[in-house]
Parts: sequence; structure tokens; C-alpha cells
Amino acid sequence: MKRIGYFLIFLLLTFSLSFAQTGKTDKKKDSIKEKNKKEKVKTKTKSEKEVKKNKIFEDDFESLTDSAKTGLILDYHRELFSVDSNDQESLSGGLEWNIQVRDDNNNSSLPPKFRNWWYVKLEGLSTTLPNKINIIGDGWQGKHYVVPVYSYDRINWFRFKPEEIYTSESSGAYFNYYLLKKFEKPTVWVARYYPYTFNRLKNLLKSLEGNPFVKIETIGKTPQNRPIVMLTITDFKADDKQKRRIWIHSRTHPSETGSSFVVEGLIRFLINECNTCCPRVDLKKMIFNIVPMVNVDGVVAGNSRTVPVTSKDLERQWIRVGENESTLVDTVSTEVKILEKTMRELINLGPKFFIALNLHQTHSPPNQRPFIFSNFSKKAEVNGEAGEKLFVRQLIFSKLISKEYCGDTVYVRPSYEPGVQLEKKVFPESWWWVNFKDEVLAATIENTIGINGCFEEWVNYQDQIKLGEAIALAIGKYHQYFIEKKWYRYEAPNWDLNELMKFFIDSSGDQ
Ligand SMILES: [Zn+2]
Repeated sequence: MKRIGYFLIFLLLTFSLSFAQTGKTDKKKDSIKEKNKKEKVKTKTKSEKEVKKNKIFEDDFESLTDSAKTGLILDYHRELFSVDSNDQESLSGGLEWNIQVRDDNNNSSLPPKFRNWWYVKLEGLSTTLPNKINIIGDGWQGKHYVVPVYSYDRINWFRFKPEEIYTSESSGAYFNYYLLKKFEKPTVWVARYYPYTFNRLKNLLKSLEGNPFVKIETIGKTPQNRPIVMLTITDFKADDKQKRRIWIHSRTHPSETGSSFVVEGLIRFLINECNTCCPRVDLKKMIFNIVPMVNVDGVVAGNSRTVPVTSKDLERQWIRVGENESTLVDTVSTEVKILEKTMRELINLGPKFFIALNLHQTHSPPNQRPFIFSNFSKKAEVNGEAGEKLFVRQLIFSKLISKEYCGDTVYVRPSYEPGVQLEKKVFPESWWWVNFKDEVLAATIENTIGINGCFEEWVNYQDQIKLGEAIALAIGKYHQYFIEKKWYRYEAPNWDLNELMKFFIDSSGDQ
């Protein structure tokens, strides 16, 4: 127990820590607690030093350097704990931490469900006794059970076991739970889900430098002066006039780290394929324009959904000067302006776009499959004939992805307000719709983090990488069918609407 005195905790990206409850049963524990109290004073001084030191060496643990700016509370708390339940009696006596999940930018006016991301480093964990980690104030409506992850090196990540996770008493829209675990090492990183940092993206970009199929450019700077990067992936030797363009952007919402794994899987797949001869996704015929991380500032700040300072949700910033106008109003966020300007330049440059994907992740209940947000109701009636066609193309695309994705089904689901015309909305898909109607297959694709159909276990980041590969392959097939009009007899597609509707789930009202 002596070692406990050296423990300190420290937090990060998204949090503040508050006070833990202490169990106190017998004399022995009381005396340990007394000792602990005395040592706590020393520990605090030590922890402040540690914070400074960590700011220097933790260059990949990005919110650390930004934590002061964004008002994260650098405090810590540890106590001994005991567990009331008889079953858990033998676990009593370890260490306890509270992790209070914070609002983006500490803005308490944001809806509870905007508060869900957390990623912390804990130091001084017990390796001989269980550690109790309270997660307080997860705002995703309290109904979606999550299985967090941990790592000793930020390279290899592990899921907690379901039996190491317990729900606590929750209040209102916020959900509290705790993790109970004896760790193998005293320093551990713990997160709600597999982190995908800006530094990981930079490493990916570095690994692609010099690749003949990739051009990397900065298309603009965020308000905090970070680059928004676009990758152009194509066979640069082939004539652009024979090609069609695909637009993909990802990570509008910082907590949706899965969307970054999906886009990384897609990028790596395209390049690996074409190190041979691009048999399935032909880069002689396609140009991919990919913005892998839109909300860079939000990711670095450790936000869940919004950009720093203004707390704007970029997904709803595609505000146009008029319903049928594609020009954006001046007041939209910088990141959206940069995307729109780039898209417009590429449209003017040619060749034509035929697909535009917007990658997200749902904080899903178990057993939810990845899905396309259609923006339409079942029949797309308020969007006319072009709306019907686009809806059917989304169904076809979900069928094509499903075929490539471990035999699982990727669904199409109606968006919120499915009865509202697309031009009245402020999503990126509305912008594409106003410009191109059904000529461009514009869609949001949501991946999941729960137990997912064919995997029969909690989805991990490798599964999301596979989804990226499946999307790349589906794009290849879609191009063959709709652009090249090339289809082999044995693969003759069945686009019967009744058949395709098997890929539609009417889940309005669900999240
Ligand atoms: Zn999202």
C-alpha cells in the first residue's frame, strides 16, 4: 500500500475531475485513508510538476497543449474505495478517480448529447489492487451503453471487458458509469473510444509523401491556424478528361473518431490496389479528392461535436443565401468556407463529380449497422423525380457497400425531418443537391461503435478500416455501372425497388 502515495492522476482532453466517494468500513481502511490524506498534499505538488513535464514530452497527446487555452481544469483526485456489493467485496481497497466529462469549450448551453468524448492519461495506477474510474456526465442520452478502451502505449488499444463496466446512478440527460480494473502497468491511457488524433493523421500523410498516386495540399487554415489538408488520389499519368471525380470529407465531428479510421482505410486501400494495376477501383478513370479531417481545431481541443470558441456544429453550417442558391452566407464557419471554395474550384476545373460522401460515426446502441443518412423519407415525395432517383441510387450504393463489407448490411435510413425538401436544409448534401440534384450521389455515411452484425463483437478500428475499403470498392462498382455502363452478364444488377427496399430502415425517431 505504500506505493499508493506516489500515485497521481492527471487528466486530459476533455475533462475536469471532481470528487470521488470514499468507502470506509473498518479501522484498517480508516487508517489507510488518513495516511492517504496526508500524502495527497504531497501528491498534488508532484502532479503539478508532472503536468508541466508532460507538456513537453507528450506531443502526441494533443489536447494537453491546448488544455489551458480551452479551460480544462487540471485537477485530480484519488481516494481509496470500497464496493458495497457482496460480489465485489474482494475488490475493495484500490484507487478511485472521477472523470467529469465536460461540455465542448465549457459551453454549458450546448445540448447534453453534444457531450460525450473523453480521453485521459492516468498515472500511478495500482497494479496489485483494482482501480475504480468513474465516468461522470456522458451526455449521449444515457441510453447507449459504451465499452471504453485503454492502452499502455497509445499504439496497442484494448477494450475493457463488459464485466469491468458498471452503471452508476445517473441524473437527467447525463449518464454515469464506472470501470473497475486492475491494470498491468501504472500508466494507462483511457478513452471512450479508439482515439484518432491530428498527429495520427500527420503520420499518415508523412507515410504517403512521394507516393506517385497521391498529391497532398493545404486548402486553407483553421481559425487556430492549423492546416486543412486535401489528398488528391488518382493516376496522374492518365488523362483527366477520361476521369470522374469523387469528393469525400470526414471528421466534421471530433468525437466520431471512427470516421477517421474509415477514411484512412479507404485511402490506404486505393493506394495499395494501385501499386499493382488498380483492378477494382481504377485510378486511371477516377480522381478522389479527400479531406480527411475537417474540424482539426475541434479534434485538438478534445471537443465532442463543435469547433472551439464559437461552438458551431459545422454539419449545420452549410447555410446558403437562398433556398435555391449555392452561394454560402458570409457568416458560415471558416472550415465550411474552405471546403466549399475548394469544391467549387474543382467543379470549375473539371472533370465532373459523380459521388460526394460525408463520413460520420453514430454513438450507436448495440446491433446497429453502419448506415447512409438519406435525407429522404421512404418515397422522397417532397423532392420530386430527381429525389426519387437519388434515393434509389443511395439504396444501390448501400447494397454495393454491403456486398464488400463482411457480408453485413449497410442500411439507408431517413434523416430527421425527412418530409422537408433537401434545399431547405443546411447540410453539405443540400449544397450538392442544389448544384447537381441526382447527378451527384451525395450522402452521409455513419459507421458504428457497438456490436455490429457480422462481427458479433464490439466494433474495433480495424473493422472501421475495412468499412473504408468496402466503400472504395463500392465506388469502383458504382463507377462501372453508372459512368462506364459496363456490367458483366454474370453480375447483372438487380435494381428492383422492392429488393432494394430491404436496405431501407425506417428508424425515424431513433438516434
Ligand atoms: Zn457526425
